Amino acid sequence: MPSIADNIEKIQSQLKNGTRLVAVTKTKPVEMLLEAYQAGSTIFGENKVQEMAAKQEVLPKDIEWHMIGHLQTNKVKYMAPFVSLVHSVDSLKLLKEIHKEGLKNNRVIDCLLQIFIASEETKFGLSADEAQEILTSADLAQLPHVRIAGLMGMASNTDQEDQIRQEFRGLKQLFEAFRQYENDQVQMRELSMGMSGDFQIAMEEGSTLVRVGSAIFGSR
Ligand SMILES: *Cc1c(COP(=O)(O)O)cnc(C)c1O
Repeated sequence: MPSIADNIEKIQSQLKNGTRLVAVTKTKPVEMLLEAYQAGSTIFGENKVQEMAAKQEVLPKDIEWHMIGHLQTNKVKYMAPFVSLVHSVDSLKLLKEIHKEGLKNNRVIDCLLQIFIASEETKFGLSADEAQEILTSADLAQLPHVRIAGLMGMASNTDQEDQIRQEFRGLKQLFEAFRQYENDQVQMRELSMGMSGDFQIAMEEGSTLVRVGSAIFGSR
């Protein structure tokens, strides 16, 4: 069986210029995270705030922690001191809370707007119109402790490659279109798309961050 290090090395060798790997470590024990860290992974993605905070406390401090899961406002405070990037922002209300906790911690917290691109009903995220509303909202300028650094999306869970590619392509187009709103606080720098099953397609469509879990750590 290939080791965690083998899997990371293989994925790293497939990354396109400018695409970074977020190793998705949710549900995995710290020993496995340490193994990934020693193999050169320094960006970890988690989907539960308290689990991420507990791991952050005991692991090396140069790890970048990314929140990739659906987020409740009352949990933001536990990650605000250290989180590097929140991929899963899906409301202005959440941005207000992240700003509030960013202010308390005297830092600006980078966030991505999660866009709904899949055909399934169950996935979280904003429509293009809702995202545009946030980017153009006068309220956003009142939240200087958050910065919008780009977009995130999850493609449909299907083996139809064409469909996945179209969904990613649509997200990339939106990312480019949103450049018109760029300012100090809004910057389309990161496009987070692609998971174990579809990160190659995502990279071909312009992803800058791929979020890969099971292809590194095995199934959950
Ligand atoms: C779990 C998860 C991933 C990783 O999924 P794999 O298929 O295991 O690579 C990526 N993104 C999000 C938002 C996730 O929740």
